[in-house]
Amino acid sequence: MADNKIFLSEKDMPQKWYNIIPDLPEPMSPYLKPDGSIIGPADLAPLFPMELIKQEVSQERWIEIPDDILKILKIWRPSPLHRAFNLEKELKTPARIYFKNEGVSPAGSHKPNTAVAQAYYNKKEGVKRIATETGAGQWGSALSFACKLFDMECTVYMVKVSYEQKPYRRILMETWGANVFASPTNKTKTGKAILAKDPNCNGSLGIAISEAVEDAASREDTKYSLGSVLNHVCMHQTIMGLEMQKQLQIAGEKPDIIVGCVGGGSNFAGFTFPFVPEKLKGSKIRLIAVEPTCCPSLTKGDYRYDYGDTGKMAPIALMYTLGHDFVPPGIHAGGLRYHGASPLVSMLVKKGIVESRAYTQNPCFEAAVLFARTEGYLPAPETSHAIRAAIDEAIKCRETKEAKCIVIGFSGHGHFDLAAYENYNSGKLVDYAYPEEKIKASLKAMPVITPKM
Ligand SMILES: *Cc1c(COP(=O)(O)O)cnc(C)c1O
Repeated sequence: MADNKIFLSEKDMPQKWYNIIPDLPEPMSPYLKPDGSIIGPADLAPLFPMELIKQEVSQERWIEIPDDILKILKIWRPSPLHRAFNLEKELKTPARIYFKNEGVSPAGSHKPNTAVAQAYYNKKEGVKRIATETGAGQWGSALSFACKLFDMECTVYMVKVSYEQKPYRRILMETWGANVFASPTNKTKTGKAILAKDPNCNGSLGIAISEAVEDAASREDTKYSLGSVLNHVCMHQTIMGLEMQKQLQIAGEKPDIIVGCVGGGSNFAGFTFPFVPEKLKGSKIRLIAVEPTCCPSLTKGDYRYDYGDTGKMAPIALMYTLGHDFVPPGIHAGGLRYHGASPLVSMLVKKGIVESRAYTQNPCFEAAVLFARTEGYLPAPETSHAIRAAIDEAIKCRETKEAKCIVIGFSGHGHFDLAAYENYNSGKLVDYAYPEEKIKASLKAMPVITPKM
């Protein structure tokens, strides 16, 4: 009888991150300034520590994980790989379904994997304080935890509507010692200007990013930190996929399909990038990126240069995007509401190495509830997108009688999202696909930016 869970011992934890950049089918396009000129390390230095800037463009395939980072990751890592026997039985599928559980981290998602690494490099370069933004609070809580362990201050600009409607993540951040402000605040020029025009502004992720960036750029002791999208963030997350490779080997498995959800793309990158080299060598493994239909950057967006944020403070990157002014409707999977996607994940989709698909929220919650009722664990609304796709693939296996091995990147638990489950349970969730014409209009309004070489 096969095991329910495959554990790795701490001594078998990966000691290096996998950097996909040297294995890409073509070189990465550089980040740009608004005039089309290329952004260099000096431009990023006010915001990020030099080591992270180096990692962003590194051509080294393997990068050593410092011992001080491993020590903290070992609080919860290696995370378990579970076999979803009960879900398989419920679906009457011959497929073997596994899930890699990142809900076991202190903050409840994959995000501390990079928060700890980023806090470490900031601390090492003498930074005293980190400023960041958070929407629903997943990233803010991961960074609050990481900063506390490295004895640094953490200031979080939290979108006002979430600050007021979702107090529990804020309380978690404050318990870990962070200062959390409802954005827009009267602490930055950006915030003051917005409040002067609209004192009741609910805030947005774009505004919160602009406030955090301004805070970091205007103080010598402070840097900025981003929880997704960037290359170094994707790289820090590969510890999950590298653990998974070892665990699948122990189980005697070769995965046929790996699924993950995509907001900015970091958990998907972390789960799947270590499997890309075998795919490039001809393996038939399928890597499936799943997003919500209301924010369909990979499935309906354009592959082009665009700003990373609404406030146009972040670098311009080549990626799949819906346009930096795109404001997705308020679905419960708050972590998936980003207008763009990681440039690395975008390139792999463009080249056909990664497949993408989108779902509306009701089928995702239906899958999440089925998962909770069979496997017990309550998925985050973001994670439910990956579960939906895995279930659909397992149902296909039932029809074709194929015993495929399907692995789910279980990015986090949903214990702070019970209001969303209540809405689903009482039939109040609305399905929404963003209209194609509106996406086209948003993209048409975007300035065309081309690199000046
Ligand atoms: C933030 C978050 C995501 C989406 O972010 P990515 O960078 O795409 O990984 C997905 N799942 C959970 C649980 C999250 O907290």
